[in-house]
Amino acid sequence: MKHILKCKFCGEYTLKEICPSCGEGAVRPLPPKYSPVDKYGGYRRRVKFPLFKKEGLI
Ligand SMILES: [Zn+2]
Repeated sequence: MKHILKCKFCGEYTLKEICPSCGEGAVRPLPPKYSPVDKYGGYRRRVKFPLFKKEGLI
């Protein structure tokens, strides 16, 4: 069974693995995984941590 694919570059829907419009690779348009956990929290802390350290707050 063929799945419809979506170009990750231009957003074109296609059945081919290569987008006919722009030649980029097409992927299955899965919805982004939703997680109740704030997955960017760790990222934010990693970004801020050196700043706190620099400012002498830690
Ligand atoms: Zn495309």
